[in-house]
Order: sequence, then C-alpha cells, then structure tokens
Amino acid sequence: MSAPQKISIFGATGSIGQSTLDLVGATPDAFKVIALTAQKNVTKLADAAIQTGAQYAVIADSSQYETLNNLLVGTKTTVLCGKEGLLEVAQIEVDTVISAVVGLAGLEMTYAAIPYCRKLALANKESIVAAGEQILALATEHSTKIVPVDSEHSAIFQVFEEQNRAQLNKLILTASGGPFRCLASAEFANITVEKALKHPNWDMGAKITIDCATLANKGLELIEAALLFNVPEHQIDVIVHPESIIHSLVAYQDGSTLAQLGMPDMRTAISYALGWPYRHKTLVKPLNLIEMGKLTFEAPDLTRFPALRLARQALKNCQGQRIIFNTANEIAVENFLNHRLSFIEIPKIIEMMLEKTTPPKLNCVADVIDFDRYLRHHTQQIIQQFQF
Ligand code: NDP
Repeated sequence: MSAPQKISIFGATGSIGQSTLDLVGATPDAFKVIALTAQKNVTKLADAAIQTGAQYAVIADSSQYETLNNLLVGTKTTVLCGKEGLLEVAQIEVDTVISAVVGLAGLEMTYAAIPYCRKLALANKESIVAAGEQILALATEHSTKIVPVDSEHSAIFQVFEEQNRAQLNKLILTASGGPFRCLASAEFANITVEKALKHPNWDMGAKITIDCATLANKGLELIEAALLFNVPEHQIDVIVHPESIIHSLVAYQDGSTLAQLGMPDMRTAISYALGWPYRHKTLVKPLNLIEMGKLTFEAPDLTRFPALRLARQALKNCQGQRIIFNTANEIAVENFLNHRLSFIEIPKIIEMMLEKTTPPKLNCVADVIDFDRYLRHHTQQIIQQFQF
C-alpha cells in the first residue's frame, strides 16, 4: 500500500473545503491531513480537525483563537491564528494543497505554499486572475503542478492536448447562465439578494453564487483559462449551457471538439485534482444522457450581463486591469450581500473602477497585494459616494 497523500486544505470550512473533506473522509487511509484553515468559523474548523486528526488548525481571525483552542483541548492538533499562522502552515511540506479560500485573501497563502507542495489543487480563481503571472512562474520554478478545481478548467485540463497546442482552435467555456438567464432586462432592477443566492444547478459559497448570477464568475474563469492554459483571449469562447453537463470543450483545427461531461457536482473536479494523475471512485451520481434527454446551448447576453464583457476587456488590457476587475467585483458583491448596493450596480462599479484607475507597475505578488488594498478602499469610497 502506498503512503497516504499529505494534504493541507486552505478554506476548509467553505463549500469546496467541506466537499474535499467529504472525499477525504470516504477514503481516510489515502490521506494524511496536515493543516486546515478558516477565517472565523471555529466550530466547523474544530469539527474537521477532530474528524481528520489534522496536525494544525489555523483561524485567520485572531480574536477566535481562544475559542478554537478550547474546542481542540485534549487533541493533538496545534492551534495557530492570524496571517502568521496561515503563512506558517503554508510553508509545511505536503503533497497537495487545496487552495479554497474565497477572494484575493487566498493569494498570499497560496503563493507561499507553492515551493512546499508538489501539487496545487486550485479553486481560488481570484488569485490566478490577479497574480497569474507570478503564481505560474513560481510553480514552474519549483516544479509544482497546478491542477484546477474549477469544473470548467478541470474539464479543459482533462482534454487539452499539449502536444497539439499549435492545432488548437478554441477553448470553449460553458456557463449555466445563472438564475436570471431568462429574466427580462426590465426586471433586473428588482433582483434581491435572496433570489440571486438561488443557483439553479450548483450549491456554492455566497460570493461565487452572486458571481454566477452576474456572469462575473464566467469573466473570472475566462481570465483564469487564458492564464492557466496560456491561450490568448480571442481563442476563448463562452457559451451558455443551462444543464451544466458539458463542463467545457477544446476545439482543434482538424474539426474535432473534445469535451468533459458529468453531473453538476464539484466532487468530481475536486476528486480529480486530489487524485491526479489517477482517478478515484466518488459517490457522484453517474451521468445518464438518456435521462437528460437533451442538452441546450445559447450565446451569452452581454447587455444584461455586462460583467463578462468587462472581464474580456480587462484580460485584453493588462494585469492591473484584471486586478481592478477582481477587487471591484469582490467589494461590490460584498456590498450587494449587505443590501448596500443593487444587483445592477455591481457591473457599474466594476466599469467605473476600470475607467477611473490607472494601474501601477506590478513586479511581484507584494505589488499585487498593495494594489488590491488600495482598490478595496477606493471602491468602498466610490460605493459610498456614488448616487445611481
Ligand atoms: P466559501 O465562501 O464557501 O468558503 C470560503 C472559505 O474561505 C471558508 O473556509 C472561509 O472561512 C475562508 N475564508 C474566507 N475569507 C478568508 C480570509 N480572509 N482568510 C482566510 N480564509 C478565509 O467559498 P467557496 O468554497 O464557494 O469558494 C472557494 C473558492 O473556490 C472561490 O475562489 C470560488 O470562486 C472557487 N470555486 C468554488 C466553487 C464552489 O462550488 N463553491 C466552484 C468553483 C470554484 P470561514 O468559513 O471561516 O468564513
């Protein structure tokens, strides 16, 4: 029997983190959990640490340290907190890091972990969007394999033939279209947080669920695909496929288009990233195409969903614009979730920030983090001042 795979899960209490823990729990002998991290959810983090026997549990919010410590008294888990704790566990050697923090908050620890892991299972798309150049360069330097967790990128990863790169025609990302795919534009002003949080196919964290509703998520994924697979913007299409069965496609110049299909269940993509280069059995319902009956496709509507257009524009421009797209979106979504901004104002804020901000020269991840900090503050100010 081979040695268990040593893993650390960043964002263990979130939707991806919990699905990862489910998979780990199903084959406990295959994994040894080294570190689990969360922002503030001490109860879920302590439960996960007890269940897996994790060596470290790290809570980013230092005010929760005592509570977590008390919950883990009598266990062998070492409790750490704050940015120092996150960076400390990022620098422990493991086979696989599952990077599943939401937002650019995941960048620093993901970047710090790259020299210390053999494989980075990357769900935290915001990091690649903002600092793809730096992350990919470091991964190459340390021979760390990046395996995407996002279902679309996992699909492309599975069918992309590196040896036929010169014969690539297009990457085709599929999008469910979200809950407002068929909603008339006149109704967009009445979209509530509750309605936007109801995704038709996927059960996910709040931020990505709103991103799916605005199609900003597809914009982030467009950028992620361009960087991860080193393919120019004009060679990446987005099509709406409401059933979310085809997770993405790669079209070659000989007329062949290869796709990866499966039920809309993130456990398939997570399991693939955990197991790569091998596949493991999961409890995901097998795909039954006869039961499905038909699969449908349509073009995305960039008028009702301008965030996708803005992401394409940012991708065509420069790294600084991609950071603006990401950070302005994060802050706008946060304000929408707190009922301080309406749904249609989310892309307006992104557009305004893209127009108003001149990005600085960005040489390293520290520059990205500084620029993101500036943008967070500035976007929040604009939201407070702006009268729509
Ligand atoms: P969730 O909101 O469900 O979970 C986010 C996780 O990150 C939680 O563990 C949270 O801790 C932690 N976290 C949040 N803020 C911080 C911070 N400042 N410092 C450290 N940790 C923090 O997100 P998802 O699981 O839905 O998404 C995670 C990532 O995966 C995102 O980038 C998303 O785009 C991507 N993704 C998600 C998919 C999904 O199906 N959910 C599909 C494809 C990609 P706490 O619980 O304590 O707040």
